[in-house]
Amino acid sequence: MSARILIVDDVAANRIVQQARLAAAFYEPLLATDGATCLSVAREARPDLVLLDLGLPDRPGLDVLRDLRSDPATREIPVIALTATGESSERLAAFAAGADDVMNRPANERVLLARLRNLLRVKAEIEFPASGELAMAGLADPPAPFEPQGTIAVVSVKSTPANSLRDALAGQLRDRLVVLSRRDALAEISAENNSCNLPEVFIVHDDGGNPAGTLRLLSELKSHQATRHAAVCVVGPAGEGDDAAMAFDLGADDAVARYVTVEELALRTRGLLRRKRHGDRRRARMQDGLRLAMLDPLTGLYNRRYAAPQLTAVAKRSHDDGTQFAVMVMDLDRFKQVNDHYGHAAGDQVLIEVARRLTANLRESDVLARIGGEEFLAILPRSDIAVARRVAERICQSMDIQPIRLPSGELLRVTVSIGVAVSGPAGEATTENDGIVKQADLALLASKGAGRNQVTYRMNAA
Ligand code: GH3
Ligand code: MG
Ligand code: MG
Repeated sequence: MSARILIVDDVAANRIVQQARLAAAFYEPLLATDGATCLSVAREARPDLVLLDLGLPDRPGLDVLRDLRSDPATREIPVIALTATGESSERLAAFAAGADDVMNRPANERVLLARLRNLLRVKAEIEFPASGELAMAGLADPPAPFEPQGTIAVVSVKSTPANSLRDALAGQLRDRLVVLSRRDALAEISAENNSCNLPEVFIVHDDGGNPAGTLRLLSELKSHQATRHAAVCVVGPAGEGDDAAMAFDLGADDAVARYVTVEELALRTRGLLRRKRHGDRRRARMQDGLRLAMLDPLTGLYNRRYAAPQLTAVAKRSHDDGTQFAVMVMDLDRFKQVNDHYGHAAGDQVLIEVARRLTANLRESDVLARIGGEEFLAILPRSDIAVARRVAERICQSMDIQPIRLPSGELLRVTVSIGVAVSGPAGEATTENDGIVKQADLALLASKGAGRNQVTYRMNAA
């Protein structure tokens, strides 16, 4: 679906020109002629971006911008503000009111379209997957916490370091500011540096009219593993006209002309830092979410969902290496009675202790998962029947010999029944991975039937 852009402008000629340009670039334009219409269309149609002229007939454009930012329904919609005056006080006020960018009229069309693509890309990243699903998964963005001091690097493309820019910014920002030459910047990111120490924002300063070198450095920073999530802002001739359009398309987070006031650059930098950290937090939560989706919350062991592809991988490697592997299914004996006598909470403590003992008796390379209430699965790569037997007997004994202490202080003897299946002899393919678990399940049933607290083996499960 093409992105929908809301054009807010009271001058019909401006609207018509913008509308035609956006349609030609395959966007779907929406129109509003004043502030009130802008707010109602934004709320109802939820456009992907707003192009907001600051000179509106009914209300000051800055008020409209503030209203867009304070309404939860429209808060996240990127806004490019357009000013006819180009006065720096108005530009600053628009940034302070929450504009993502401010452009003087008439705006360079190529830059405007490149900026639009850039903001739409950022928006798509933030919204993926749909924020509603994220919220349900507990992954929605919480309100931004207090922002600690950041590290901002001013990088000069020429050999003269950008000290004056650093000094000017230092009067406006409370963040740590460092000056790097192009060579230092590239050396620092290549030095296998701990990425925590790397700058979060790079201001790439094209002081000598070397747009090509500036754009090259931009793409180096954006493509390097260590800095690809850092924000990069291009300042100077490379941040103007067609070069600015190129910069945005190369991944710049901002591109600013050489005439920018230091106050505006500071505001933009702070916005970049905020957005960069927002992205970091979102990525961290995604990773936590993915990790949690693989783990059993009670015992911290892997869950069944994680174990299934692991089994496939172990089977394949075993086939490739010509080695055997073993699968063990373990089930606590008469566990229902534990719950019945001592309560569910005590039962949980027993499960946690059992998980600990199982882990202690397996190797680092084995996979251990809780696949049911009181049922566990272990996958033992590079293991023949002799290895599997040793491990299984050891597990049985580790439960039987040492009673588990309940929270009440009472000691409880817990035993486990085990079924073991070993894959075919070396080199023999084990294509039916489910098959080997079924074999182990059958062996477990035999252990239960024969009186529990014992191990049963099945060979050649392939
Ligand atoms: P068997 O020796 O035949 O395996 O008998 P059992 O009692 O262990 O087997 P059964 O399948 O009848 O009961 C399993 C019990 O495990 C029932 C359930 O209450 C308990 N259980 C399952 N998950 C949990 C859990 O997360 N916490 C606690 N405390 N108990 C659980
Ligand atoms: Mg049981
Ligand atoms: Mg069971």
